Amino acid sequence: MLPIHDALPLLKDPCKVFITTHHKPDGDAIGSMLALYHYLVGRGHTVTAVAPSEVPEFLRWMPGCNKLVNYEAQSDTAKNALKNADIIFGLDFNDFNRTKHLEQLVEELDKPKIMLDHHLFPKPQWTYGISMPEKSSTCEVVYDFINLCGDNALITKDIATCMYVGVMTDTGSFRFPATTASVHLMVADLMTRGIDHTRIHEEVYDSWSEGRMRFLGYVLIERMEIFRKYDAALITLSRKDMNLFNVQNGDTEGLVNYPLSIAGIRFATLITERSDEVKLSFRSKGNFDVSKFARLHFDGGGHFNASGGRSKMSFEETILHFKRILSDIHPK
Ligand code: 5GP
Ligand code: MN
Repeated sequence: MLPIHDALPLLKDPCKVFITTHHKPDGDAIGSMLALYHYLVGRGHTVTAVAPSEVPEFLRWMPGCNKLVNYEAQSDTAKNALKNADIIFGLDFNDFNRTKHLEQLVEELDKPKIMLDHHLFPKPQWTYGISMPEKSSTCEVVYDFINLCGDNALITKDIATCMYVGVMTDTGSFRFPATTASVHLMVADLMTRGIDHTRIHEEVYDSWSEGRMRFLGYVLIERMEIFRKYDAALITLSRKDMNLFNVQNGDTEGLVNYPLSIAGIRFATLITERSDEVKLSFRSKGNFDVSKFARLHFDGGGHFNASGGRSKMSFEETILHFKRILSDIHPK
């Protein structure tokens, strides 16, 4: 992967840009994609931004969200844009397989592929890129990219709003260890563009349905196990649980973090039975590397304190397998 600086001449003249992010996009994925979208449109490029799957409800208010193409609903539009693109940007992921349906299509294309990301261990599939695992969020990487292009003055209120969403959600509202002085300096700069940070926080965190709140109560009472011996907690969600509460896309967002608010718990896992796979989410506090844990045991990856993976076993077998690993490795 060549340094990003070498890619800048590609954007000198107006061209067709295709931007995408990971499957099941979160605040940083949509925030960084929309921020880059608005910035490149502002520079005169023709831009198509494709989300590999639906944008969750709590992010649909974001400026430009109505411009996004959802691959699962409009695959022909997405494929055409990809075929006609001059440059491809991948944001908030570093392995094409994280885009799910787009993996093969992007892989086969002989066009410059630019990665802007903050996950560990990028795959050597990219032509150019920025890979900075120490960064709080991909939105911070996009901010650095815009500054590198000498375009700080082009950061509009919409761009600033999108970037604020990503940095706020990926830092747990400015508390995770990657919340450096640079993050606060960046946010101060974003605030000078007139963003309404109180409203942004409300849109993202205080927009629950009654059902989602009651589902959380049910999950914490019925579906959370604590393993004091390992300072660990496990939440398991079956399809049956989710059907019972009519759980919507995005309703399980952040569930995995709750056990970490219990004194002494330093490792939390969420196992979710999806229609096509069993998905695992891991979070830790301190020095237990959940990125390595996800890579070694669940075909996944991510960050040191936040990662995810998947299992090909059944939901029930995955839970048993996870508990066996837990007792083998003693993460405490
Ligand atoms: P989440 O638990 O919110 O799905 O993911 C937590 C972090 O781990 C995110 O930064 C996400 O990008 C990463 N992650 C989640 N699932 C996977 C996966 O299957 N593979 C890899 N490499 N990273 C993942
Ligand atoms: Mn991110």
